[in-house]
Amino acid sequence: MIEFDKQHIWHPYTSMTDPLPVYPVASASGVRLRLDDGRELIDGMSSWWCAIHGYNVPELNAAVTEQLAKMSHVMFGGLTHAPAVRLAQHLISLTPASLRHVFFSDSGSVAVEVAIKMAIQYWFANGHPRKNRLLTIRGGYHGDTFGAMAVCDPVSGMHEQFRAVLPQHLFVDRPTARFGEAPAAAEIESFSARLQRHRDEIAAVILEPVVQAAGGMWFYSADYLGEVADLCRQADVLLIADEIATGFGRTGTLFACEHAGVEPDILCLGKALTGGYLSLAATLTSERVAHGISTDGGVLMHGPTFMANPLAVSVACRSIELLLASPWQQRVARIEAQLRDELAVYADHPNVRDVRVLGAIGVVETREPVNVAAAQRRFVDAGVWIRPFGSLIYLMPPYVIEAQDLSTLTRAIELAL
Ligand SMILES: *Cc1c(COP(=O)(O)O)cnc(C)c1O
Repeated sequence: MIEFDKQHIWHPYTSMTDPLPVYPVASASGVRLRLDDGRELIDGMSSWWCAIHGYNVPELNAAVTEQLAKMSHVMFGGLTHAPAVRLAQHLISLTPASLRHVFFSDSGSVAVEVAIKMAIQYWFANGHPRKNRLLTIRGGYHGDTFGAMAVCDPVSGMHEQFRAVLPQHLFVDRPTARFGEAPAAAEIESFSARLQRHRDEIAAVILEPVVQAAGGMWFYSADYLGEVADLCRQADVLLIADEIATGFGRTGTLFACEHAGVEPDILCLGKALTGGYLSLAATLTSERVAHGISTDGGVLMHGPTFMANPLAVSVACRSIELLLASPWQQRVARIEAQLRDELAVYADHPNVRDVRVLGAIGVVETREPVNVAAAQRRFVDAGVWIRPFGSLIYLMPPYVIEAQDLSTLTRAIELAL
């Protein structure tokens, strides 16, 4: 099996001629992945931010099987169903009051594509066809499709390879002020100057609020985000918040925008939306944007085959209900305190550049890029699942993790250092 996999199947961001090793997993339950050879690994990744309740969760299993007995899928063109409506009701009630319209899609990247389309179509329909560019901050990650890739960090997003076919958007440096710090006046100034200078061609500012995730695990000043939101409003530019990684409690608030009291015009959700069960994403927007797009009979030009898949929206409803019924704030706060406490020892390690923690996310940034294959071998031997990228070794465990298991994860980082 491993040999066939190696010869024929791409894994994320890997070479077909020199792939990184992969580990065959047979099942998963609670916070543990069980490999084919019977070894159990404590999961420090939540399967890329998704599995906030852990694995094989009875309530979520039931949501899928109950829906499966009714219908696994129907087209969303011309049809609707109760689970989709119920999920939209949940999302509208949990997100800022102005967000009242929901577009379901099947992955985060597509949710970002839809957000970009909404912004461009809004201005087009309102007589500003030149407002079709985006402004963002460097170090972001918004997905791998072309529209999303064009607003990812130009270096880590490898714009060079795709330059000829990528839309050219506007970038400013990422804020240097950390979460909890005041933003540097000069950085607000330069953002503002860029926005003013190009306001007639900017449809929207897009960013990941407070936590830049796959672009570098950087936690930046919430006040910077607040200032950006104010500047957008003054310049009449829309604000797109990509909360695909941060949504559903990861940073300590249900949505990261809450740290700055910001109401975006468009909000992207994904990843933890289904508790890691199925691929689903959503793009929410305000009445102003939704109705604006339909000025003179315009329609939003998107409609995925698996839009609002009944299995996915059913499990998303149950995941949200499970989250809200759980003491998630206390759990995330407890994980945050433990990460701060136990990762602090690495701050003075000669191979470490920085240690940072926010909510249920802990990051140890190394001075040199991590040898991923070697580090993973050691992690697996130690019974943990941690997957570093670049110079970042990070933990974002399921919220249900016990203190002892989390300690096993934090101690294991030493092995990679
Ligand atoms: C993961 C991620 C995406 C892309 O989501 P996919 O489901 O992988 O397409 C977009 N934005 C952010 C902030 C993400 O973390």
